[in-house]
Amino acid sequence: MRVYLDSTGCRLNQSEIETLGRQFERAGHTLANAPEDADLCVVNTCAVTREATRTSRAIIRRLNRANGSASVVATGCYAHLSPGAVRALPGVERVVGNLDKERLVPLVLGLAGEVELFDCEPLAREFRPGALGRTRAFVKVQDGCNNRCTFCVTAIARGPARSRPLDDIVAEVAYLAAAGYQEAVLTGVHLGSYGHDWGDRAGLQTLVEVLLSRTSIARLRLSSLEPWDIPPGFFRLWEDPRLCRHLHLPLQSGCDATLRRMARRTTQAAFRDLVAEARAHIPDLGISTDIIVGFPGETDDEFETSYAFVREMDFMKLHVFRYSARPGTAAARMAGQVPDEVKRERSARMLALSDEAGRRFYARFVGRMMPVLWEQVAGASPEGFRNAGLTDNYLRVTLDAPEVLTNQILAVRLARLEDQALVGEWQPEASFEGSPS
Ligand code: SF4
Repeated sequence: MRVYLDSTGCRLNQSEIETLGRQFERAGHTLANAPEDADLCVVNTCAVTREATRTSRAIIRRLNRANGSASVVATGCYAHLSPGAVRALPGVERVVGNLDKERLVPLVLGLAGEVELFDCEPLAREFRPGALGRTRAFVKVQDGCNNRCTFCVTAIARGPARSRPLDDIVAEVAYLAAAGYQEAVLTGVHLGSYGHDWGDRAGLQTLVEVLLSRTSIARLRLSSLEPWDIPPGFFRLWEDPRLCRHLHLPLQSGCDATLRRMARRTTQAAFRDLVAEARAHIPDLGISTDIIVGFPGETDDEFETSYAFVREMDFMKLHVFRYSARPGTAAARMAGQVPDEVKRERSARMLALSDEAGRRFYARFVGRMMPVLWEQVAGASPEGFRNAGLTDNYLRVTLDAPEVLTNQILAVRLARLEDQALVGEWQPEASFEGSPS
């Protein structure tokens, strides 16, 4: 059978769809590059915002238009929360809720047992437009969340926090390194709670230490970390240069009153101290964040407080979300819903701040030599190829060169800033490196 996979939403969804791909291959099936070539389409949906549910529905409709004879299996948060609506979409034969997602392949194939996950050829990641080549893999280390942030439907859709056994993760990362991947990104719904379900409050720290000592992966990256999960001493992990100097710390609001209504377990003061400590320990650290604007009850004053704090934190990038009420969440029932035009205006101001701070962060590196993991060819160039990649602290870099550099870590001089990316200078004598040190 030929299987086409598609996904929307967070990195965890991406990691899961890639794992499903490996499982289908392990079971003897092939992955299709386009829905037209598939017998079965599997879609990992998202419900984090109203827009995300619309995108999920649009993907399913597009797949059905492209190939009306392929059946569609839908999974993920939107499918879990609204199975009836998803089942009614054209071509959908089956909805698999999040709690059954790990058994999706045996369920769909009618197999009795589990499909072994990691003892198999890695997925050809080119199967999906925009997917990375065999350079960077997302590794799911936990699922679910025990918090109840009042805006969040993800915690409801994903169930309680549960961590994957450490040895399984080590085996997967070692396997990815042996298969040629240069970077593994640890992901989860609530990554910082790794190990809490078996009583280890420093579980993520242990996991990172073990991965760095027992695998040869050139780069290890952490995805999103809730600020209150970071234990004392955590930043010492970055003494190993293989750990990427980028942190995504979701703040959501820079105003304490809004944070309380969101049931976030942080404050301005705690967040400020955390960022100062991280920057003191990790030179050239890039910090990005998530911000929600127009949360119920967010007055002009609250927004201005949030805006000023976000400016003070000088993030390299903001992911800005206009609040949208998600069914089943506490915030959806709160008074003081903010009009759409106010949300739009606040969003535009935060995005402008993001651009401004991003340019400032990028400009700091002009003239520096930085190792880059080249991830893809973004087009042709007068020299031959326009290579595109990322530094370990998440700077986008392009390099015009006579060679395709994909999946190599090569240090280049960053000559100038252009269109939100640094432009590297091709030096034929430059040395290729196995690690970003
Ligand atoms: S920490 Fe909050 S925002 Fe993050 S998944 Fe849990 S409930 Fe949702």
